[in-house]
Amino acid sequence: MNPTDLSSWTPVSPDRRSFLKRGALASLLAWAGFSAHGAAKEPAVVTPGATFSHGAVPPADAVVLFDGKDLSAWQTGDGKPAPWKIENGYAEVHGGGINTKAEFGDIQLHIEWASPSVVSGKDQGRGNSGVYFQGRYEIQVLDSYENPTYPDGQAGAFYGNAAPQVNASRKPGEWQTYDIVFHAPKMGADGAVVPGSFTVIHNGVLVQDHVPIKGNATTAAPAKGVVPTGPLHLQDHGNPVRYRNIWLRKLN
Ligand code: MG
Repeated sequence: MNPTDLSSWTPVSPDRRSFLKRGALASLLAWAGFSAHGAAKEPAVVTPGATFSHGAVPPADAVVLFDGKDLSAWQTGDGKPAPWKIENGYAEVHGGGINTKAEFGDIQLHIEWASPSVVSGKDQGRGNSGVYFQGRYEIQVLDSYENPTYPDGQAGAFYGNAAPQVNASRKPGEWQTYDIVFHAPKMGADGAVVPGSFTVIHNGVLVQDHVPIKGNATTAAPAKGVVPTGPLHLQDHGNPVRYRNIWLRKLN
């Protein structure tokens, strides 16, 4: 056949192509009880206590990233001032994701968040944001109160990697806490990645227990590659999620 002659080929529309790439396999896996995001079993709901670390005062050695007054520790991806709305002691997602100006390796993070009290959308479109460690590894923020989605994409998930052990979500609009221990994956002397780990407590309930981080950036991460330090990134997924009382302790 003449290499420029495509007469024996049939055009395939983009939709059809994506079906061939993802749809057929996903359908087969779904039929077998799996999805592209792992086993479909939904984590059990555990109603958390009324408060846990809400309003936790930063320890003496903490780096305070947001105390309710200003986002001067944060910037946009291209170094401009963080455009999020600040009022009543919280910052609300607006105008793009934001990164810390400083970079961090292993950390203990405290962060509080609230999904919109007026429910809009469903599944991944409802109260979606996320905390990306080193701009790479996302602990999902989502309104997962009576809002089914794939388990490794719900609140407290290490997105696309590990579903939370249980669903400890509070109602839409209520303040929720994450207390997270992050050990970054590191490049070993032999060039192989030494996995890191996530331990996540959601509203006082352990949801990730020393889960390995193998070094692959999660979906929509602003950065890739295993690095010693990187910024913390808060995601703009188009929903007005609020954050307050953000601080961390460096572990190395
Ligand atoms: Mg997200």
